[in-house]
Amino acid sequence: MRNPAIEIKDLWFAYNGERVLDAVDLLLPAGEFLAVIGPNGGGKSTLLKLLLGLERPGGGFARVLGREPGQAGGHIGYLPQFTQVSASFPISVLGAVLLGLVRPGFDLPGLFRGGGARRAEREAAMTALSRVGLADLAQRRLSDLSGGQRQRALIARAIVSGPELLLLDEPTASIDGRSRQEFMALLARLNRDMTIVMVSHDMSTVDGCVTSIACVNRTLHHHAESRLTPEIFAEAVGADLKTGCPVELLAHGPVPHRVLLSHDDPNCCGGRHAHAPEDRNGGRP
Ligand code: ADP
Ligand code: MG
Repeated sequence: MRNPAIEIKDLWFAYNGERVLDAVDLLLPAGEFLAVIGPNGGGKSTLLKLLLGLERPGGGFARVLGREPGQAGGHIGYLPQFTQVSASFPISVLGAVLLGLVRPGFDLPGLFRGGGARRAEREAAMTALSRVGLADLAQRRLSDLSGGQRQRALIARAIVSGPELLLLDEPTASIDGRSRQEFMALLARLNRDMTIVMVSHDMSTVDGCVTSIACVNRTLHHHAESRLTPEIFAEAVGADLKTGCPVELLAHGPVPHRVLLSHDDPNCCGGRHAHAPEDRNGGRP
């Protein structure tokens, strides 16, 4: 039987003595697409860093692809939060993808001049770019791409070594509307070949594309649903769906946050409650 992609039991983690994650349990079978949602400061990025072995837990059990975190490096692709590309950074799209294959002895200056990699590495990078639909833009400067194209290039960098597990931290933050839908369709295709864990603030990206949802706010609640149902809201807040409104605080922990349905959504309160205008486009804490 395949190892679970992620197995965590009673894990905790503290920065400078202050616990930001506590009593975390998660069993994620291989092949899933998990969305991780929760408020700013709830511990989502820290959770990914623990899975990568970039931080070490204070206590508890964690296995990633059947190994200690940090021992599964080549089998994990990672897209960190806030990946900035300076306009003056002189690297091509192909060069940026090749950075995902950097090894001892890699000719990094050569990479910036458009060479510096072995033929097999260039082929692997072109294959990764084809998978994200950017093969035609391989020679463009990375900084010249649109937000959506750039995120796809960074996905190509994350998958160039053929990972079993892809960890994405807020990958849609810099992508708008239609490109975001295309980006999610791309992730759904990649999910046929690899387990995906995606941290997201954006409820519209979560809906339908994923196989399960984890709410992280100091601890973790794993819901085996692909949609954010009113029932998840109700369970989270103890609300009565008949009389209450599911547009509510989803408070799985000490940091309050709002997870909002569109006011026009039939799952919302049907107009029985007046929402402040700033609530309507929410989904953000
Ligand atoms: P999220 O990704 O859900 O917004 P983070 O995992 O980034 O949350 O942060 C969780 C908590 O840990 C926050 O209170 C944050 O301020 C704190 N924190 C994050 N990184 C560090 C760090 N390197 N040192 C100290 N505190 C940190
Ligand atoms: Mg974060």
